[in-house]
Amino acid sequence: MSMKIRKILKTFGFAFAFLLIILIAAFFYSRSWERSLLMDPLCQLDSQEKIMALTFDDGPSEARTPLLLDLLDSLQVKATFFMLGQNIEKHPDLARQVFEQGHLIGNHSWDHPRLVLKSPTFVKDQIDRTEKLILELGQKEVKYFRPPFSSKYIVLPLVLSSLHKVLVTGTYDPPSEYKTPYDGPKVAAEVIANAKPGSIVYLHDGKSSDPEAFVESVRLIITSLQSQGYRFVRLDEN
Ligand SMILES: [Zn+2]
Repeated sequence: MSMKIRKILKTFGFAFAFLLIILIAAFFYSRSWERSLLMDPLCQLDSQEKIMALTFDDGPSEARTPLLLDLLDSLQVKATFFMLGQNIEKHPDLARQVFEQGHLIGNHSWDHPRLVLKSPTFVKDQIDRTEKLILELGQKEVKYFRPPFSSKYIVLPLVLSSLHKVLVTGTYDPPSEYKTPYDGPKVAAEVIANAKPGSIVYLHDGKSSDPEAFVESVRLIITSLQSQGYRFVRLDEN
């Protein structure tokens, strides 16, 4: 091999290693809910007052959403629902009911793919198809996007900033919410113990398991924190 070719290969090797280091650093930087490349995610409400935002992901679903809507209505609490386009398409009446009862609807993609290393066209399509259905429900704009699995690496913030959207993560995700069977009092206890002014709490109405236990956890969270002086708001009410 000539010296010249060796020199070129060496230069490319260095460039590749450098790029790889940058990508790995960017990946780790973006893993936190509080950080992203290009834009600051909304991970907490900007308030010292006792206000909190409950967010419900992956719905609407036939199992949990109707019971949840009844509960929120009876307690006169408004929340934010990060819906999947495919579930709005499946349950348009439920999605409309969420909107008509005064809740805010955010975009959570079409079918919950991992958006890491996807093309801008793919990411934009996931956002646009879902947004179209939300607008058809009557909501004037769809400003808030929560990435599936909270993964927001590289392309997503680029696309969101070009569309002038807000990237939403959260403050607290109760670990017991992912366990089966659903232990309502345990989930509620975790949320209550970790409540802080401005918290954005992750919950999921899109799952089909244990709807009664799920709604019981939400009832306990709301009534207990209200008795501590907390008020619940939509993400756009702060
Ligand atoms: Zn989700």
